[in-house]
Amino acid sequence: MSKYIFVTGGVVSSVGKGITVASIGTLLKSRQIAVSVQKLDPYLNVDPGTMSPYQHGEVFVTQDGAETDLDLGNYERFIDVNLTAESSVTSGQIYSAVIAKERRGDFLGGTIQVVPHVTTEMKERFHLLAEKSKAEVVIIEVGGTVGDIEGQPFLEAIRQMRNDVGRDNILFVHVTLLPYLNSTQEVKTKPTQHSVNELRRIGIQPDIIVCRSDYPIAEGIRDKISLFCDVEQKAVIPLPTVSTIYEVPLVLEEEGLGQLIVDKLKLKSQQPDLSRWQELVDLIKTPREPVNIALVGKYVELRDAYFSVREALQHAVLYHERDIELIWVPSETLENDGDYSVLRSAQGIIIPGGFGVRGIEGMVKAATYARENNIPYLGLCLGMQVMVIEFARHVLGSDKPNSTEFDASTRYPVIDLLPEQKDKKTKGGTMRLGNYPCQLAPGSHAAQAYGQDLVYERHRHRYEFNNQYREQLEKAGMVYSGLSPDERLVEVCELANHPWMVSCQFHPEFGSRPGRPHPLFRDFIGAAKDILREGAQPSLPLSPGL
Ligand code: GLN
Repeated sequence: MSKYIFVTGGVVSSVGKGITVASIGTLLKSRQIAVSVQKLDPYLNVDPGTMSPYQHGEVFVTQDGAETDLDLGNYERFIDVNLTAESSVTSGQIYSAVIAKERRGDFLGGTIQVVPHVTTEMKERFHLLAEKSKAEVVIIEVGGTVGDIEGQPFLEAIRQMRNDVGRDNILFVHVTLLPYLNSTQEVKTKPTQHSVNELRRIGIQPDIIVCRSDYPIAEGIRDKISLFCDVEQKAVIPLPTVSTIYEVPLVLEEEGLGQLIVDKLKLKSQQPDLSRWQELVDLIKTPREPVNIALVGKYVELRDAYFSVREALQHAVLYHERDIELIWVPSETLENDGDYSVLRSAQGIIIPGGFGVRGIEGMVKAATYARENNIPYLGLCLGMQVMVIEFARHVLGSDKPNSTEFDASTRYPVIDLLPEQKDKKTKGGTMRLGNYPCQLAPGSHAAQAYGQDLVYERHRHRYEFNNQYREQLEKAGMVYSGLSPDERLVEVCELANHPWMVSCQFHPEFGSRPGRPHPLFRDFIGAAKDILREGAQPSLPLSPGL
């Protein structure tokens, strides 16, 4: 039977609970313990697929096509697993399942209540993941902060779990923030005490408290939290802010969290091997020459909207032993006056995914700039559609080619709805989602990058390349370097007369891992790193005496 670790958050949100959960997974995996992870989101949306990136940040897509919270991306990157839909549970899913059962008559005669019906449905999701993944330890993150109204049923469900599975098989970890007061120059424990009180009121006594802080945490503070929150001193784990998220597993291991969990859950374990993480962090901390990449998107004010893209870029520059300098370009700013000065220092341009017409013309301009100036370009989903629109405008000598998403009555619909999308009436969960195969053309940049000819990648889109324009654009130099095996859908395209302008209809960023960059990101940076741009100096060997 699987054992469970439930992780709650206190004091404030965005305190790093997701990274802590991912890191706990890393510590267990490094001891050869099989883990799986689940995120519980208390909001009433069935999934985040219909939410604005400004509300939610990135929507992470699993291989089996679930639209999920960006924390799942961190779990996948840290634990190096491919998760499935069962790893993402929202209140919306729970309530719709319970109400569907009620309508079916499953509870005939009963009054449907939060306890037990909603909490039972929740616990079934915990057990389902445990059974399906066969993990020894299932780590479950409760989204939000203790005290939120909508989080209460989840907390009640995890409280019940202690009796259901037995005390030796469950751990409660609470992640809190210790704020720092400038006037007295001390970190304060009171908010943590209050949030633990709130947990206790619900019936949950944390076994471990992870204390986030921007400042070092003195022994005395640990003692105080231990005393007031009734947790062993060694189970109060300080987690000061570190320069890279990939250092968090190392810090937590250093503080003894791995061994503590193994002891408390009575797990059989090997000696931890975190050497790969240590090497990664050492490399990140070594000064490296930056590669300047412009990210042209419509949600750039909220960087979490591109979380996996940033991580994939980071993995790729590390592979080349370089650093990254990201130039965030709100695409609308390129639209009117054709002022490209912000792109002048970019050694590569990346256009990530997105929806809706705002900012599209600016992205098209960035693509023109990349094509005309031989700047490496990587288009991701919308970024591929933009590349096709731009190239079609160039070839047809007209500014009219467009996607029907942005101009429903365009004369040249070079990007159009997928046929199977035409009769879709509802928006939630109805895109082309998850893994699909893609056949690569030998000799293309894409095939070279992957080093194989059949790949599976994650999708999230409604529109596609319109095959009516295939021949015409091909004659002008567009290469269809990736197609669906039935050759119906263009999955990757690139330009023949350009050093590296490659785009894909899927989202390679979701598959990139620290130490194993995604091939397209790796080669994009490979192409960009040696491009010399304005203000840059070629590095000359320094000889003494000159
Ligand atoms: N809006 C485009 C589509 O639906 C692109 C989607 C995306 O970038 N994920 O096809």
